[in-house]
Amino acid sequence: MKIEIATLFPEMCEGVLAESIIGRARKKGAVEISCRNIRDYTLDKHRRVDDTPYGGGMGMVMQADPIFNCYSAVCEELGGKPHTIYMSPKGTVFTQARAVELSGYKNIFIICGHYEGVDQRVIDEIVDEEISIGDYVLTGGELPALVVADAVSRMCSGVLSDELCYQDESHFNGLLEYPQYTKPAEWHGVSVPEVLLSGHHKNIDSFRLEKSIEITRERRPDMYEKYINTHNIPSKK
Ligand code: SAM
Repeated sequence: MKIEIATLFPEMCEGVLAESIIGRARKKGAVEISCRNIRDYTLDKHRRVDDTPYGGGMGMVMQADPIFNCYSAVCEELGGKPHTIYMSPKGTVFTQARAVELSGYKNIFIICGHYEGVDQRVIDEIVDEEISIGDYVLTGGELPALVVADAVSRMCSGVLSDELCYQDESHFNGLLEYPQYTKPAEWHGVSVPEVLLSGHHKNIDSFRLEKSIEITRERRPDMYEKYINTHNIPSKK
């Protein structure tokens, strides 16, 4: 899969994308992620990409043309339209389930807004969906785009060492993950739960599922209710 991030701050994204699991996955070609500088697509002689809002008000608005030119260049290179996302606090809140769905697309184009946002006309013309990473406002779409690119990439084969790595994790199956422990077996007088040292895989699985359900019930009653309803488990209040 290929993800293109359109941004005014490509170095900000590149720095993150070069590191750790995603950096290694890019190097070995399990996922292709690249950044485009929207400023490279302005026709303005001063490389301007924003202007004041019609109707007045604070701040600047990103102009339609540079974003549209950037999108058109990507379409031309791909020989078709990528699935286009605008990162926005007005969008649908991002979830693990949406990350799984998005990993099925061949090409994704993510637009990062800045300042007061983006001229509505280019959003209406090229954007397939608006995604928010939560009910708060950040200064730009770069961090949200990186969140989406990371979560989607993890779902692509070859990025993590094994699919089990994510299938067991929080949110994948509607539960939060059980607590994790590593060596030493005793730390600050607290021992790792006995069952995890037993080597008895069935008991370990049952312990972990029980803990997952317990943590989900305590921390996310909304998720717990959904889980017990879909698995026909009697509710524990
Ligand atoms: N004026 C906009 C509003 O009130 O909805 C907020 C603009 S924000 C300061 C600048 C850019 O940051 C947005 O265009 C968007 O790309 C990005 N952004 C900020 N918060 C976000 C969030 N929670 N999720 C996704 N993108 C966000």
